[in-house]
Amino acid sequence: MQPQFFNIINDELRGSEKTHAVTNPRTEEDLWPCPIASTGDFEDAVVAAQKAFTTWSRTTVPERQALLVKLAEVLEQNVGELSEILSKETGKSAILAAIDVNASIAQCLYYSKTALEDEVQYEDDTTRVVATHMPLGVVGAICPWNFPLILSNIKVVSSLVTGNCVIVKPSPFTPYAVMKWVELSRGVLPPGVFQVLNGGADLGALMTLHPGIAKISFTGTIATGKRVMASCSKTLKKVTLELAGNDACVICPDADLDKTIPSVASGGFFNAGQVCVASKRIYVHESIYDEFLERLVAEVERGYAIQEDANAPSVFGPVDNKMQFEVVKGIIEDCKKNGYNIVTGGKTQAVTAAGKGFWLPPTIVSKPPEDSWLVKEEQFGPILPILSWSDEDDVIKRSNLSNAGLGASVYSADLAQAERIARRLEAGSVWINQSERPNFGAYFSGIKDSGFGGEMGQQGLLSYSHTQCLHFAK
Ligand code: NAD
Repeated sequence: MQPQFFNIINDELRGSEKTHAVTNPRTEEDLWPCPIASTGDFEDAVVAAQKAFTTWSRTTVPERQALLVKLAEVLEQNVGELSEILSKETGKSAILAAIDVNASIAQCLYYSKTALEDEVQYEDDTTRVVATHMPLGVVGAICPWNFPLILSNIKVVSSLVTGNCVIVKPSPFTPYAVMKWVELSRGVLPPGVFQVLNGGADLGALMTLHPGIAKISFTGTIATGKRVMASCSKTLKKVTLELAGNDACVICPDADLDKTIPSVASGGFFNAGQVCVASKRIYVHESIYDEFLERLVAEVERGYAIQEDANAPSVFGPVDNKMQFEVVKGIIEDCKKNGYNIVTGGKTQAVTAAGKGFWLPPTIVSKPPEDSWLVKEEQFGPILPILSWSDEDDVIKRSNLSNAGLGASVYSADLAQAERIARRLEAGSVWINQSERPNFGAYFSGIKDSGFGGEMGQQGLLSYSHTQCLHFAK
């Protein structure tokens, strides 16, 4: 039987006169009708959330944390169904789709044990000041398509543990798994606390403008993030922006290549490069450049070849949607037009035998110019430039961009050198001797155009709360 999908408002399933269907990027088959929320649906969801907030905000942290454990159980009981839906809408392999669900379970469990606590901020003979953390109200979670569950769920669990209500808007490219997740979790939380609405830019814009929404947590492109911030300013909403990165990866001459090569291949080509903190520019010390390039190409051709069967044990896949497919194809064509040295991949036509799906082969380009499209802008797809360096100050200067600062990585056998470089890289997170993977226990935020504020870890919860100071006279 065909699965059905609903907007969830006040714990009720709601269809819509307007629907759309997503294309499975692996096969180009059309998936299931998905209801598009109307303005009326949105207004109803805000009213339900505001009503729920009056009692939900007064629950205790342990009460809310116990419910996060229940949410984790719901996810756990439905890993199979949710992974299958997610695999179809994103084109991810079965193992990649399961990672999205399992990491969401881990997020729920992490916040079932982590919360903000009251703290004495000042004390003398006459006064004691205690900081406590109040929920904000209704949070609007506006999400992208590359990890639909993980990236929505982090906003959901952060909202819930801090006592907020949350309305999730998944990307219209990947609405299904998130909608099913909210549907399956009905009954765990009071009605109106956790709701989902499917829609595109119009609905997102409404959320950023509505005075009944206290905070927007947004993950997506820099251009949209700037629009979101401008809209949020009209009602002075709190806003968190998790935006694009163009992560540099610096390989020092003494890096252990047996470990570094697989790690860099994964950094660049896991989920076909559609990771906000994928390694997007690789800077290899010139003394090891030729060996590194040869071994990286072999590793990528071996481990990241296109496998059309979704059940193959692969962490590579197609580009998620036609729009992004055209962007990445454009970057590959630009490299060809300019005569850059494409050492593997590069095909944009007849990539698979069936000729279906938004597939592009893993593509590596040796030493394109620093001002090329591929190096300057986020590619968010399976193409990677490999550049070289010889002077530490120079590679740091080239790594630091004016328009991005999300993540970075450094590989060296000399930890002091790696740390010295890491501390000078202008990025919110730097990984040492490992590829970039956000850890839900660690604060995650982009600097420069890569974001505003941040989330994850205990510190991330501060952006979902007002810190109120209670001044006690002694
Ligand atoms: P996008 O900006 O196109 O869309 C993101 C969301 O915003 C979608 O839900 C979309 O419907 C909505 N939206 C569009 N216009 C809007 C508007 N005017 N007002 C409000 N909402 C609006 O981004 P995308 O293509 O879905 O995501 C890919 C990008 O996200 C990449 O650049 C990637 O690096 C970035 N990303 C960042 C992180 C991070 O944590 N920093 C994580 C994942 C992805």
